[in-house]
Amino acid sequence: MRAVEERDVVIVGGGICGLATALALHRKGIESLVLESSNSLRSAGAAITIRTNGWLALDRLGVGDKIRKNAVPLQAFREQRLDSRSGMLIKTEGPLSKGEVRCVKRNELIEALASDLPDGTVCFECHVLHIETDPVTSFPVLQLSSGSTLKAKVLIGCDGVNSVVLDYLGMNPTKVSCTSAVRGFTSYPNGHKFDNVFTIAKMDRVILGSVPVNDELVYWFITRLWTSQDSTISRDQELIRMQSLKSTQNFPAQMTEMIRRSDKGSLSSMRFRYRAPWDLVYGRFRKGTATVAGDALHAMSPFIGQGGGASLEDAIVLARCLSRKLSEVTEEDGEGRRRRKYEEALADYVEERRMRLLGLSILSYVFNKLSEGPCMVVKIICVLILIVFFKDRIAHTAFDCGQL
Ligand SMILES: Cc1cc2nc3c(=O)[nH]c(=O)nc-3n(C[C@H](O)[C@H](O)[C@H](O)COP(=O)(O)OP(=O)(O)OC[C@H]3O[C@@H](n4cnc5c(N)ncnc54)[C@H](O)[C@@H]3O)c2cc1C
Repeated sequence: MRAVEERDVVIVGGGICGLATALALHRKGIESLVLESSNSLRSAGAAITIRTNGWLALDRLGVGDKIRKNAVPLQAFREQRLDSRSGMLIKTEGPLSKGEVRCVKRNELIEALASDLPDGTVCFECHVLHIETDPVTSFPVLQLSSGSTLKAKVLIGCDGVNSVVLDYLGMNPTKVSCTSAVRGFTSYPNGHKFDNVFTIAKMDRVILGSVPVNDELVYWFITRLWTSQDSTISRDQELIRMQSLKSTQNFPAQMTEMIRRSDKGSLSSMRFRYRAPWDLVYGRFRKGTATVAGDALHAMSPFIGQGGGASLEDAIVLARCLSRKLSEVTEEDGEGRRRRKYEEALADYVEERRMRLLGLSILSYVFNKLSEGPCMVVKIICVLILIVFFKDRIAHTAFDCGQL
């Protein structure tokens, strides 16, 4: 990259949201530059479940079928509540999504999004350190770790839970949860014996989930309260496996066996971060021609499995808003009018997303609170919120973000 460069649209972060946004813009004929701090595509976290809303977005991006072919459809949600003292087991089963739900390998999702982008769209090892406003043009100016400076007419922060673009907007940072997750894969070269259902087993405050990706691969996760040892454990994949076996020792044998024979390289452990729902009510999420999308905007605990799906929706809505407003600009229009159209587009995007994200954020916030084992008063409030506002717990999966 040259010392000072100017681009129309710059996206910070080449994760699910950044790549989906670049692809959505590309499909609308708007080129962008994605700045990614890693040296290659990142896919930490093994797999991700995508519900109907996410598949609608992927289909509109033109990559749905490419991703579908390696992931079996999941039929239901099965919950097993285990009592550590009495050994009692309560099983319930219900729908997982209104329509389609599949668990996909993160690297396949990321690669499918990236492979349809024009060459040179993603700039690896481009770490954004700091952003300022140009005193003359009022456009954002990005300082990169390489020492170069990049001017952006439109800046989209898809840089996750520690977003530098969010700092630039003056927004509250994401909050740290008391809960953590381990994620990994187990391969069964001769086929596994799991049903094609999303299964979770709960004991005390530990949840162990297993989700088949295809006939030979199962994605699993454990959520439990974070402990101070976890920052050390998370750096060593063998320790992650040992700790996972320890926290699930009284779980059904098929599940603990799955952890024992997991692919060590796929294991990761992290503490959740989330955006408080009230931030979504009051947050500006736009400053001039800069905004945020994905986890930078709406980090949420994974209890409703919607962070990635909502990020795909963001990409579609953002590209639609930008393309609609840019179609009102003519060759004769000056820089001032073009700038106003960019601002209007981003304002439309933020307003269109706000209520949708608020609903998801409240639901995941409530589930996260319940997982922390709150006091009776908080528990009652959480249950009341669920009864009053979320009678249909999977209604959010049927959301259609609209055409690109
Ligand atoms: C345990 C767990 C399970 C989950 N399960 C599901 C699920 O089943 N279904 C679902 O839909 N969602 C799920 N999610 C949520 C989903 O993973 C996230 O919402 C999604 O990955 C967010 O994508 P993103 O692109 O916004 O952020 P990220 O994936 O965090 O990507 C941000 C990118 O920005 C780059 N970056 C950061 N800072 C800079 C910088 N300064 N300069 C340049 N680059 C930068 C990073 O390197 C990274 O590549 C889960 C999350 C967790 C934690």
